[in-house]
Amino acid sequence: MIVRTRIAPSPTGKDVHVGSISTGLMNYAWAKKNGGQFIIRIEDTDQSRIVPGGEKKMLETLDAIGLKADESPKVGGPFAPYRQSERLDIYKKYALELIAKGKAYYCTCPPERLDSMRKQQQAEKKMPKYDRQCFHNQAEIKKQVEAGASHVIRLLMPEKEIVFHDLIRGTITVQSNTLDDQVLLKSDGFPTYHLGVVVDDHLMEISHIIRGEEWLPSTPKHIILFEAFGWKIPEFAHVSLLRNPDKSKLSKRKNPVWTSEYLEKGILKEALLNYLALMGWSHPDGKEIFSLEEYVKVFDLKDVQTTAPVFDPVKLEWMNGEYIRNLKFEILNLKIQEYIGGDYDKKIIEKTIPLVRERLKKLSDYLPLCSFIFHAPATFEVDMGTYKDLLKNISDTLSTVSDWKALTVGEAMGDLAKKLEMKNSEFFMVLRVAITGKKISPPLNESMELLGKEECLRRINNTFLASVGPSQL
Ligand code: GLU
Repeated sequence: MIVRTRIAPSPTGKDVHVGSISTGLMNYAWAKKNGGQFIIRIEDTDQSRIVPGGEKKMLETLDAIGLKADESPKVGGPFAPYRQSERLDIYKKYALELIAKGKAYYCTCPPERLDSMRKQQQAEKKMPKYDRQCFHNQAEIKKQVEAGASHVIRLLMPEKEIVFHDLIRGTITVQSNTLDDQVLLKSDGFPTYHLGVVVDDHLMEISHIIRGEEWLPSTPKHIILFEAFGWKIPEFAHVSLLRNPDKSKLSKRKNPVWTSEYLEKGILKEALLNYLALMGWSHPDGKEIFSLEEYVKVFDLKDVQTTAPVFDPVKLEWMNGEYIRNLKFEILNLKIQEYIGGDYDKKIIEKTIPLVRERLKKLSDYLPLCSFIFHAPATFEVDMGTYKDLLKNISDTLSTVSDWKALTVGEAMGDLAKKLEMKNSEFFMVLRVAITGKKISPPLNESMELLGKEECLRRINNTFLASVGPSQL
């Protein structure tokens, strides 16, 4: 069997959800591991929920993160088009085929009738289900349809027990009398999700449908449809949804859910993929850090667990920090340059990296840590007013340092603190705030070496002037 997997995002959000990347990874790995193909199909049949620009962004993000599809709306492929809104004739043809086979029927019931029927069923505590009025009058309804009446096409749900095997969840049994006569083709000529997904998964020769567990209730309907067409039923695997650390469903209210939000704050794509690969699956050797290539080699659907995986952005940042520390110097240098943009001196960036590398959890941590190197602080985290004498002392001592190195600066400052009988912690706090504006910064002596004598003196003197205030000058 040729393994062909797919993800089928609907552009109903502004980007790809991190949960979809996690399922996408499994699809990608399963296809690649088995020498097959990974496909991206855009399911845009619910026109009322489409977010403008969503599809473009989704495809860009999937590209940016490195989940390269063998077939997609962007790269095309033998089963094009890969966007459902361009396949309407295909769905119509297959819906009509089901009518011809007696497995589906026309329905012209107006929404008001369906509404009142549903309300009544709810009031009677019955399962909401279409009552088949149109099915029982099919000859008459057909005439109305031929005369141009607005209509849908519904599946005639057969009476049976549906049994299927989910590769992650085992055997699942559903009685078809719990299922409605699903609408397949809507009055606007668009298919519903159920018809679109089954027709496309068949025509695109998808061998394994690996998707989120929220689609599990739809699977029995899909099986009935595959059977109605007389098509081979693909393998199914339903993956558990990601949860917040408090076990609630991952939602934008607690943490960012869009993949690009993580990339934009400087999470490396390799780290994000690595972290997401661990959602519901673990490396057979218990490893936490591994490449996409390695994941593809060792991933197996049978190892995916049903327990809800916890997506913890704090753990993701930790992992990203590990990736940053392991990057080759030149690569990290380039990534930081690319991330912060062209307004900063490249030679200086290069020199700052050894000072901050250990502290970076994400690329966006760089500027808050290092901006003082590029711009003298405009504000100070501590009121410098009480330290004007000390600042003057520091300035006088620093002017005498001739060989301006981290070590000599450190020694001169240590000696001064001793001479003034000040605690090192307080002394260096004042010096640090005068130079960087902040109480916490990269190593101070090294930063001062990097800034140079002239700039350090200028900063100390300016801080002194600011501490004295204009009236006392
Ligand atoms: N269009 C569905 C979605 O937005 C895909 C469901 C499936 O994979 O079958 O996630």
